[in-house]
This record gives sequence, structure tokens and C-alpha cells, in this order.
Amino acid sequence: MNRAIVLMMLVLSLLLATGCTTPPTRDPFDVTLEAHRDAIVNDTLSLVAVPSSADVPGGPARALDAYLALAERLGLKTVSLDRRIGYVELGNGDEYIAVLGHLDTVPAGDGWTRSPWGEVIDGRLYGRGVLDDKGPMVAALHALAALHDSGVPLEKKVRIIAGTDEETDDATIRFYREVEPDPVAGFSPDGDFPVVYAEKGLLWANWSRTVEPAKGPVALLSLEGGSARTWCLTGLRRCSRQRRRERSPPSSETPAVRPGWTGGGSGSGRTVPPVTGANPNSG
Ligand SMILES: [Zn+2]
Repeated sequence: MNRAIVLMMLVLSLLLATGCTTPPTRDPFDVTLEAHRDAIVNDTLSLVAVPSSADVPGGPARALDAYLALAERLGLKTVSLDRRIGYVELGNGDEYIAVLGHLDTVPAGDGWTRSPWGEVIDGRLYGRGVLDDKGPMVAALHALAALHDSGVPLEKKVRIIAGTDEETDDATIRFYREVEPDPVAGFSPDGDFPVVYAEKGLLWANWSRTVEPAKGPVALLSLEGGSARTWCLTGLRRCSRQRRRERSPPSSETPAVRPGWTGGGSGSGRTVPPVTGANPNSG
């Protein structure tokens, strides 16, 4: 053994003895939050397993019930406002900071290669609502629970507000504002990281194109973007009629139609597989 190696071993043993190779101490809050990792995954899966699109009767309310039950299990205060919207709260004082999200989803739709009702494969979570917005809502819940566990005194409240109709309307948040005070600040874990302060609603628009039947069969090769109810592959005008019918009392002139196909999509854009022929659901 040459002298250089002996010297290196001596230096290393000195470093170890003095603790110089010990990693820096982690923030206790990070350690607490890390302890929630498995529960965040499992709770997200349990919520994703609850179908909660607007076309599932009682589905969004059941998702809200399930979410508030998770919060109670974590020792947090919960309030349900007629099972339409609810919140989870921690802290003291009159004022509160809002964490605004939602538990409804767009319809599961077709074309999944994984279960839309939640599964973990190769360390990744799959399912309708994992990203939008059940997963972020569960993460926020466990962050609040970690804050609770840490015992840090809060001079204001932190309130996670859980809506149930974000994908189709904003009735529940309007109802909330009728019966609860507004927050002094807030953010929405329902978009890009790190912070989304506000979202600006929905665009309802119609596009149409007349095709010549004499030129042969018509094929829709792809369609991108939009939210669930605008994704009617055939009979786009009928979809818009449906939307108008939902917003106003039915008229005897309005035909009884329903959307031809409500594929999934969170508004971020997706390509629909080629579809040809007549819409079997129309009329
Ligand atoms: Zn969302």
C-alpha cells in the first residue's frame, strides 16, 4: 500500500469521525410530509375510483364525501355545504387563505390503455382525475395534515375548498360565496406548477363546415382540444343545441338529442381517433 492511499484513508476516516460527510439536516416539515407519501398515493387511488363526472348521478357528491372522510381521518376539521361543495380547514382567526380545487372530472371516455379508475404501474399513477384534480387535492390535504402534525401555530386559517362542478359550470363556487366569506388570498392546485392564482372560465364556441355529400364518404380524421361536452364527433350543432337546452327551459321546437360522444379531456388538448359514418347516438 503506497503512502498516497494511506493518506487518503486517513483523511476519509477523519472526515467520517467529524461528521463532515453527513448530509445536511432536513427540514422537519419535509420529513413529516415524506411520511405521507404512501398515503397520498393510496388516497388518490381511492378517490379516482369514485366516478365523478357530471353525467354520473350523485358521483361528484360521493367524491366530496370521500374526500372529507379522508380529511377527518387525518384529524382535520371538515364542512360539507349540502354535499355540493365543502372545505377542510386548519388554523385560527377570522381570515383564511384558500386552496381552491375540485373533485369532479370529465367523463372517463374511451381509448384507455390503463384503468381510468386508478392504478400504479412502474411508479406512475394512472386514472381519470389523477392530475385534474383529485391528485393535487389529495396532495394539498396531506400538506395541511403535515402542517397540523408539525404543531406550527397559524394566525390565519388555511382552507381547502373542494368544488364539484368545475368541469361543467361554476354553480357550486357561486353557492359557496353566498354562504361563506371570501378568502384574503389563495391559489389553485389545478394547473401548472408552481402556483396558479386564477383560472378564467370556459370557452363555448361552435365551428361548422359544410361538406358536399356528392364527393363521397365523409371521414373525421382528428379533432383536438376542448372539454368533454364540446367533443361531439358528429352533429356538432346538436351538441350546441344540447348546451343551450341545459341553460334554458326546454322548448317544444328543441329536438331530443344528446351528445354523440363525450370523450375525455381536461381542456389541454387531445387527438380523437378517426371516426367515420353516422353517429349512432344522435337523434
Ligand atoms: Zn381542473
